[in-house]
Amino acid sequence: MKTHGAVLRGPGDWEVVELELVDPGPGQVLVEMAYAGLCHSDEHLRHSNPGGRYPIVGGHEGSGVVVAVGPGVTAVAPGDHVVTSFLPACGHCRFCAAGRSNLCDKGATIASGQLPSGTFPFRLDGEPLGGFCMIGAFAEHTLLSEFSCVKVDPWIPLDTAALVACSVPTGWGSAVYSGGVRPGDTVVVVGLGGVGANAVQGAVHAGALHVVGADPVALKREFAESVGATHTVASAEEAAGLARHLSRGTGADVVVVTVGKMSAEVMKGAMSCLGKGGTLVLTALADRVSDGNVGLSGQLATVFEQRIQGSLFGSCNPFTDIPMLLRLHEEGRLELDRLITRRYSLDQLNEGYRDQAAGETIRGLLDHSLT
Ligand SMILES: [Zn+2]
Ligand SMILES: [Zn+2]
Repeated sequence: MKTHGAVLRGPGDWEVVELELVDPGPGQVLVEMAYAGLCHSDEHLRHSNPGGRYPIVGGHEGSGVVVAVGPGVTAVAPGDHVVTSFLPACGHCRFCAAGRSNLCDKGATIASGQLPSGTFPFRLDGEPLGGFCMIGAFAEHTLLSEFSCVKVDPWIPLDTAALVACSVPTGWGSAVYSGGVRPGDTVVVVGLGGVGANAVQGAVHAGALHVVGADPVALKREFAESVGATHTVASAEEAAGLARHLSRGTGADVVVVTVGKMSAEVMKGAMSCLGKGGTLVLTALADRVSDGNVGLSGQLATVFEQRIQGSLFGSCNPFTDIPMLLRLHEEGRLELDRLITRRYSLDQLNEGYRDQAAGETIRGLLDHSLT
């Protein structure tokens, strides 16, 4: 079938094109996308795609409705509402079996978008191409592995549901799982966008005594306070002084780095907040792999017994945590709706990312029904 979607032919801007979509094969699911979040990971893709290839269809944080399923698919059926999991979870590989499905071996091709069967789902001018993270949520229709489809309750609005595909679990889990925040902790969250705001919510749920948010943008600081940050400041340097004061001298127990762009400078600021026995959680990405190199005082890490913990998808399991987070939202315990600042049509995608770069959005949302 034919569909439309936003692609990158190489580093540069998004281009809306007509795509050919292959029919669902074994284990594959055809989905009509409803919404896609404007995540910063797709913005990084505009600069480089390490381990991947161009052209590629963007978008990995999405929700939609199943249109058709290929042979052998039993987990979902036509009409089901699904949230995309930007990391597939096969359930059987070493990491899935051990309860670490965010490291599923089937995720090896998320940068190229090749499905586990080896199929590239799209064709552009006859050339095979994939969707970012094996999703391609910036296309009106996409073909997913059943390992990437999380069925959700049909009464949950699909715009709300799209957010739990990436930014919400990534932020929430960075505090709760990767950082292991405990009751009474002092937590610093560096960067208060779509991911950082949810790290704040996670730290609150885990019982943190103080949650200090750092971001230069006033809109984001105000939002973080509205979801439970006890203090907000403009920079990591200010957060460091505050964390030491609030913790009565030791520094933050957990620091979560959720800025738009990782860099050595960001790392230095984050480390300055970290206290004795603390854990620094790296959730942010850089535009290029080399930009993400970070410095660390090994001597201080040794004597203060500090940990540096990388965090992918907030160490969440898509098939348990996505439904759980939606239940928290249903019960009024997790803010989702107010995370959406603006909605864009497919043709307005570049504008949406410009708004994000200007610090004007917590989360922009691509609404496929807008023209
Ligand atoms: Zn994302
Ligand atoms: Zn697996």
